[in-house]
Amino acid sequence: MQPRTSQLLGRLSESATIAMSRKARELKAAGRDIISLSLGEPDFDTPDPIKAAGIRAIEENHTHYPPVPGFADVREAICQKLQRDNGLTYSADQIVVSTGAKHSLMNVILSLVDAGDEVILPTPYWVSYADMVNLAGGQVVEVQTGIAQDFKMTAEQLRGALTENTRVVMLNSPNNPSGSVYTSEEMAAIADVLRAHPHAIAISDEIYEYINFTAQHASFAAQPGMMERTVTVNGVSKGFAMTGWRIGYIAAPQWIAAACTKLQGQFTSGASGISQKATAAAMNGGGSLAADMKAAFLQRRDLVISGLKAIDGLDVNTPQGAFYIFPDVSALFGKSCNGHTISSGQDLAMYLLEEAEVATVGGDAFGSPNCMRISYAASETQLQEAIRRISAAVARLS
Ligand code: PMP
Ligand code: GLU
Repeated sequence: MQPRTSQLLGRLSESATIAMSRKARELKAAGRDIISLSLGEPDFDTPDPIKAAGIRAIEENHTHYPPVPGFADVREAICQKLQRDNGLTYSADQIVVSTGAKHSLMNVILSLVDAGDEVILPTPYWVSYADMVNLAGGQVVEVQTGIAQDFKMTAEQLRGALTENTRVVMLNSPNNPSGSVYTSEEMAAIADVLRAHPHAIAISDEIYEYINFTAQHASFAAQPGMMERTVTVNGVSKGFAMTGWRIGYIAAPQWIAAACTKLQGQFTSGASGISQKATAAAMNGGGSLAADMKAAFLQRRDLVISGLKAIDGLDVNTPQGAFYIFPDVSALFGKSCNGHTISSGQDLAMYLLEEAEVATVGGDAFGSPNCMRISYAASETQLQEAIRRISAAVARLS
């Protein structure tokens, strides 16, 4: 018998967002003039006060193994942030700091989901959710939403999807990839439905909290009765332009926090202590450290929306958060150019990569093959040029 990789690995696909940005990087290295709008990563640098806290952490020798769930003062700073920004009262033993929100999510899913358990994912969903559920042996139950409902799951749709086997309902607002933001009233309607299903836990991924163009961010755990049933996942990658520091965290019922701590005690021994200390500075500074970035994102969103709306065949809504636009491109299905026939968002993304030298991500991997994701975390000059190229390439399809 030949050596081989595990069957577990066979249940996992490469992240489509990472795959597309890798492809864009390779083409760039080969001399192609690619504009990359594929990766969800702020193009800003980490704010200075946070960098200074990281440097201080090294100088003060916070370079040993940290406690597995995170330094006490860092978890305390997270509790204070949750109280200040979200009106949620947590104690430090309900917080677990991990190596990115991606790792936090994996911890939670592995802690809750057994083989055959159902996990409800409203589409479109962030690519990694489905693979994480598959890895745990769970069953993905998709709830389809489209542009006509602003890509948001209604309470009625959730009611129809819940069964006695539902273990987890994934919520993500502001949403990747649609940019949609649930209002507090919409969250309340979802909470009303969940109240009748006490066996289901909500995971509320709020990593884009600070990139929200509405007046208010609504935390699902703030809904009456939901705090005992909700794991809030958040992190510093998006709001504070700290993708490379690799810090995420959960706020959860104590039994789930303990389960995640047990897991990561075997997997990572805890998250980088230096990055944790920088995270405490981010928590203390809060949204004001992110205000300039948010203003720039809003300006770019409007620029991209007006450019895309002028392109025939793209149906574009107005996302209220994150830094993505998720046009419905199904009006282009059946059209062709240069040997490319468009039958899905992924086909269009590949066509645009090769023929327009613009990297985006097809909606297929997000559970929405009618759509395509454009990340506008790029300079205005790049965005303007990308729109010009997309417009010309789409016009060539017939
Ligand atoms: N959740 C969502 C919705 C995301 O878009 C991302 C992307 N990075 C993550 C979680 C993970 O973020 P990180 O691991 O960088 O904290
Ligand atoms: N979350 C970002 C994205 O959706 C970064 C890539 C990733 O972590 O998969 O593009």
